[in-house]
Amino acid sequence: MEEKIAVYPGSFDPITYGHVDIIKRALKIFDKVIVAVAYNYNKKSLFTPQERVEMIKEALKGYTNVIVGSFGGLLMEYMKEANAKVVLRGLRATSDFEYEYHMASMNRSLSKDIDTLFMVTGKDYFFISSRTIKEVVSLGGSVEELVPENVSRKLREKFVQQKRGAK
Ligand code: ADP
Repeated sequence: MEEKIAVYPGSFDPITYGHVDIIKRALKIFDKVIVAVAYNYNKKSLFTPQERVEMIKEALKGYTNVIVGSFGGLLMEYMKEANAKVVLRGLRATSDFEYEYHMASMNRSLSKDIDTLFMVTGKDYFFISSRTIKEVVSLGGSVEELVPENVSRKLREKFVQQKRGAK
């Protein structure tokens, strides 16, 4: 039987427990989940694509059915290479919906045989976004309960480095 594979694309700058929750739930439906870090040089990121991939691998080590990759071009091309038919995305609030609806429709117009599956965020995670996590840490706050341990460590290191660089 053909393997059921989902590709979970995103910036993951950095991965949070909100993302981890979606991945764990998807593993109950799919044989394999490919977490695909999008690198877009027009979009400013705190971590390099390589750092983001490494952080996800570390956070999810032990999950043998999770594969971590990255892509810089069209997601639909990456889907073909990965031989996957389902794009997985998480929905936090209605504010996510409009953008996601447009992306899913555009992707379907590019590849008719690929579908986007949305999972609604877990109740403990709806307020977590990579952006607010970065903001809180840059202001000296703690995010230990919101991101994997290796990620909170890396965030602290990054902001210490940045502060040193600014001096
Ligand atoms: P992008 O820049 O592509 O939106 P993100 O890393 O911000 O990448 O998010 C990747 C996916 O994970 C998106 O579908 C986003 O809506 C979803 N997501 C982000 N944070 C959460 C969360 N706390 N709970 C559930 N889904 C989330």
